[in-house]
Amino acid sequence: MIGNSGVLAARSEEKLQRSACRLCEAPLATTFVDLGMSPLCESFLTAEQLDQMEPYFPLRVLVCERCYLVQLQAYVRPESIFTEYAYFSSYATSWVEHARRYCLMIRDRLGLGSNSQVFEIASNDGYLLQHFLPLDIPVMGIEPARNVAAAAVQKGVPTLIEFFGLDLAKRLAADGRSADLIIGNNVLAQVPDLNDFTAGMAHLLASDGVITLEFPHLERLIEGNQFDTIYHEHFSYFSLVTVDLLARRHGLRIFDVEQLTTHGGSLRVYLTREGSRHRTTPAVAELLTHEQDIGFRDIGTYTKFAPKVHNAKRKLLSLLIELKERGKTVCAYGAPGKGNTLLNYCGIGTDFLDFAVDRNPYKHGRFTPGMHVPIRPVSALDAARPDYLLILPWNLKREIAVQLRYTRDWGCKLIIPIPEVHVIDPREVEP
Ligand SMILES: [Zn+2]
Repeated sequence: MIGNSGVLAARSEEKLQRSACRLCEAPLATTFVDLGMSPLCESFLTAEQLDQMEPYFPLRVLVCERCYLVQLQAYVRPESIFTEYAYFSSYATSWVEHARRYCLMIRDRLGLGSNSQVFEIASNDGYLLQHFLPLDIPVMGIEPARNVAAAAVQKGVPTLIEFFGLDLAKRLAADGRSADLIIGNNVLAQVPDLNDFTAGMAHLLASDGVITLEFPHLERLIEGNQFDTIYHEHFSYFSLVTVDLLARRHGLRIFDVEQLTTHGGSLRVYLTREGSRHRTTPAVAELLTHEQDIGFRDIGTYTKFAPKVHNAKRKLLSLLIELKERGKTVCAYGAPGKGNTLLNYCGIGTDFLDFAVDRNPYKHGRFTPGMHVPIRPVSALDAARPDYLLILPWNLKREIAVQLRYTRDWGCKLIIPIPEVHVIDPREVEP
């Protein structure tokens, strides 16, 4: 019985935590969108696991009525998501090139050199920090997923296998380390304790140091109906309004912001200490005003999203049903995490898709979580010659359409599911 009361205590504590906003601790009550029950989107299954129980968690997104942070309730412990991760950044060619250009830009902008220290949080397989090595700029990656961190070390990128937060920042600072640059690309969304994480960055930052964070922009998510970018691994969905509030709570100031096309439309924000030498550019106030104008400080803006998602689901299913009625074969191209939100929410399994192909060999021979679509190498398309390919990483649709131009040989068409389903012909795509 002693054990039971321990469990009950832990549960009630958990319940308290998940009813409060991750940013401002206000109680959460308003739904942004409810995508039902879903398995963890990076938990690709082996053939043996298909016969076992599979954990499903609610994918219900809430919005805070006080600070407007769009966020998932916390059901899944980050340790169960991030210690063995199937996502290797280096398999996305355009993303690695994006990282390379960033490294050259930021070196010039901040005047980084051999006396500087760069940290990247969630450094993945070293896809970014590798570009600083030939520039002779010292780097340190921080990455909790052991298997991807190992790939970084192989590239020569020193990597700490840890979660980042105030505790690690204090240990690094006690070691005499401080950061001229901290990079966080697509990590902010995955941080369970936003305040601890931001406090850690502020603690590690040198007096004129700079933090750059890239994250998908909530404006693009809403406008582009990108509901498939919602998954359990993404706890929060940011506007500049919310990041500004987060920064201020920790003595940081946004001094520049850029809009990027990556991941369906992202922001890159530049942060520094309140009183540092970096002057704030007009871009910051401009975007904050824009967000105000489009209603990001009005709860009614957020509650209009869900009906658009329901509509996109019906349209995608209508097309797939019609194609199958006509005897067409359909496969999926790419098995990214977000593809699984789409497949599970819409209920698209092997009744619609023969199989999926992906460039990442980790996934070959495995099955998508929930819908159990088998994943094969891209070369499997040559033998199967499907009539249609459902493009799950639609944010890379141009790159993928060019790669798939050869499928025109057998008249294959590409289905783009987001923002609303449409079909393109690879013959019409310019190389
Ligand atoms: Zn809040």
